[in-house]
Amino acid sequence: RRRGYRGLMPDNTQVSPFWLAGRPATGDGEIVVTHPYDGRVIGAASVPTDAQVEEAVAAAHAVRAEAAALPLHVRAEALAHVARRLAERSEEIARLITGENGKPLLWARGEVGRAISVFRFAAEETRRWSGHAQRLDTDPAAAGRLAYVSRVPHGPVLAVTPFNFPLNLTAHKVAPAIAVGAPVVVKPAPATPLSALVLGEILAETELPAGMVSVLPVPNDRAAGLVDDPRLPVVSFTGSGPVGWMIKERVPRKHVTLELGGNAAAVVCADADLDHAAARIGLFSNYQAGQSCIAVQRVYVAREVYDAFTPRLVAAVEGLVTGDPWDDATQVGPLISAEAAERVQAWVDEAAAAGAEVLTGGTRDGAAYAPTVLADVPAGAKVACEEVFGPVLLVQPFDGLDEAFALVNDSRYGLQAGVFTRSLDVAFRAHRELEVGGVIIGDVPSYRADQMPYGGVKESGIGREGLRSAMEDYTYEKVMVLTGL
Ligand code: NAD
Repeated sequence: RRRGYRGLMPDNTQVSPFWLAGRPATGDGEIVVTHPYDGRVIGAASVPTDAQVEEAVAAAHAVRAEAAALPLHVRAEALAHVARRLAERSEEIARLITGENGKPLLWARGEVGRAISVFRFAAEETRRWSGHAQRLDTDPAAAGRLAYVSRVPHGPVLAVTPFNFPLNLTAHKVAPAIAVGAPVVVKPAPATPLSALVLGEILAETELPAGMVSVLPVPNDRAAGLVDDPRLPVVSFTGSGPVGWMIKERVPRKHVTLELGGNAAAVVCADADLDHAAARIGLFSNYQAGQSCIAVQRVYVAREVYDAFTPRLVAAVEGLVTGDPWDDATQVGPLISAEAAERVQAWVDEAAAAGAEVLTGGTRDGAAYAPTVLADVPAGAKVACEEVFGPVLLVQPFDGLDEAFALVNDSRYGLQAGVFTRSLDVAFRAHRELEVGGVIIGDVPSYRADQMPYGGVKESGIGREGLRSAMEDYTYEKVMVLTGL
């Protein structure tokens, strides 16, 4: 069902400039961006030189006091401008995301919509950002004293982002930085720099001081210099565990936020609406070809409904529209690269060789991997214990909630979990007992509202995003005591 690409693909003749302290610049060499679906070149990003990186960091450092003192209405108006411009350019940016990432237009459009919301929420939170007074005369020794408490930025933020949501996860770092008055240096993923560069262009239209935002597509082997730089005291990282924990160990005294991977689980209780659960799990195991940190990977089903549920799940997965990401109807497109799909294939083959049954899928075509359901997966198989980051789920029966929750918690990771139940008791129990950053009742673990606190426990990370939470992570409480009142 391929349609012509003419008019659908972004212009591939341009080399996008990067954004150095609010102005466009070109450097030395370029990152060529290819389309995962068919490998064609869809654009390129100019790569800054070491001197240009130094200039951007020095500018962020130099502007930090001015940024922290920016009136709230200036910050809020800049954030609202970004939301408006993203909305005006939404279709163009969605196509850019599909081009660089390969995700179907359906999800690319959704991502732009979410980024718009993130900037809107940030503008609203900025207007609510305020200090408070605390009376200290609760203690006789502090009679006549009053504390004024406000949050101030630690300083400029280094935002390191992954390929899978190249716009929205950049928004989740940039918007709260602007809201609290912190300069930000963005380092996008090398596979997908183009949408972050458009965001840089839109930010450059605002009244923010020049040094406040830079977007620098530096290659991975030069990223460590940014991480180490003492003028960037906050590192907000979203990406894989090995890189994230390496960063934390490298700069233990910095304020490091890590949003890392997971192998998210869904629990289907006997009282669940099985059709609803199957449809949601089938879709959100495979959306973005499974390349979401909260894609459903492990599905635990009450034994009494296992035989009724599993065929529904397989039917839901087989009903997904796969293929051309430029087709409006496509739900599952390619992975980011053929190498990524080969890794998924190797992990599924390993599980199958160890006794797993492939209920559907299990085949690869270039960078595309067929949505796959596995049963009887041995506990030690990579598809059970590691983050698959591909369109693969395993289904397994459980006897009783104790076993279900123990299975969910039997993981190095803990981002979110989904529990399909109609029982409020089970919901509260899940919230108490599941070792995750978020429990979603009646839906998949993949649900995220951009304004809610979001993040992991265990090896899934430290710190929280979601506008208000990120604003708190980027700042510290500072007290002024007034005497003689
Ligand atoms: P990745 O770790 O390969 O890359 C993430 C970023 O780190 C990129 O910008 C990359 O260029 C940069 N990087 C790589 N090496 C670096 C180094 N030595 N120093 C500094 N920066 C370096 O991850 P990815 O493949 O782009 O993204 C997929 C991963 O991201 C998955 O594990 C997924 O679960 C995770 N993720 C987590 C969340 C979350 O919110 N928890 C959201 C999306 C993705």
